[in-house]
Amino acid sequence: MSIEVRHLTHTYGEGSALSTVALNDISFTIQEGEFVGIVGHTGSGKSTLVQHLNGLLKPTSGQVLVDGEDLNGEKVNRRVLRQRIGLVFQYPEYQLFEETVAKDIAFGPKNQGLSTAKIDARVHHAMESVHLDYQKYAEKSPFELSGGQMRRVAIAGVLAMAPKVLILDEPTAGLDPRGRDRILSMLEELRDREHTTILMVSHSMEDMARLATRLLVIAEGKLVADDTPRAVFARPDLLTRIGLDVPEAAKLCAALRGKGYDLPPDLYRMEEVRNALLALWKGADPC
Ligand code: ADP
Ligand code: MG
Repeated sequence: MSIEVRHLTHTYGEGSALSTVALNDISFTIQEGEFVGIVGHTGSGKSTLVQHLNGLLKPTSGQVLVDGEDLNGEKVNRRVLRQRIGLVFQYPEYQLFEETVAKDIAFGPKNQGLSTAKIDARVHHAMESVHLDYQKYAEKSPFELSGGQMRRVAIAGVLAMAPKVLILDEPTAGLDPRGRDRILSMLEELRDREHTTILMVSHSMEDMARLATRLLVIAEGKLVADDTPRAVFARPDLLTRIGLDVPEAAKLCAALRGKGYDLPPDLYRMEEVRNALLALWKGADPC
């Protein structure tokens, strides 16, 4: 399943005195199995962009094509499409409402008209995917859980619809390091075991360094870079100019290079920096 964005522009309140151009002529194509990170400063247009990818917002101009079909064309069944492209909003736990975790996760598949057995299987699988033990949590109220667990219940609710593409808007925002790590390892498994196509919005470069296979960098509604994380993180000038950070490992690498260490200029993961240092020391004259 491919998603192609062609010259997408979105203006809020078009024609009014307060109109804002949130997206300005954005084009890119996502292929199956990619893990695409969408990064940008607050207000750059990330949430506006992802809401176009499952048809929640309509382009002011331009198109979004899914497998070559215009998402806003007359022929498209939007309900089916929303099931195939699952969107997890920012702070999705605010939308939990059922009495039990299992019922909340079953809500989507129930609306798909599946049999009880199929719904149960979907709920089990979704809970497993987000690392929530069925026996322990299925009958609990979502409101008894921790913030990180509630967020995983909300993500499970989207996974239970068996989407081909999973889009998450700031899935780690506001979580402590442990809650954040659990979400990231869960996404890592979805990428590696189920080959789910994933798009993740985040302003954490550490999260992106860990997971993304490709980065889209947005600034003031424009796509300013679309490349591998390695190529993007090798441009700290671009990132700092638009108010973004670079991963700690890339900073460390730059600092060591400044002190004369002969390291490659584009390392962005701690293990790479460590391995490169070990290789230097191994090759060094022991005297
Ligand atoms: P991000 O997710 O990167 O923080 P958004 O997509 O939320 O950015 O916002 C992009 C721009 O559009 C901002 O200037 C924001 O103020 C504006 N905007 C977002 N949502 C609305 C809305 N519903 N009505 C009017 N303007 C909006
Ligand atoms: Mg946002």
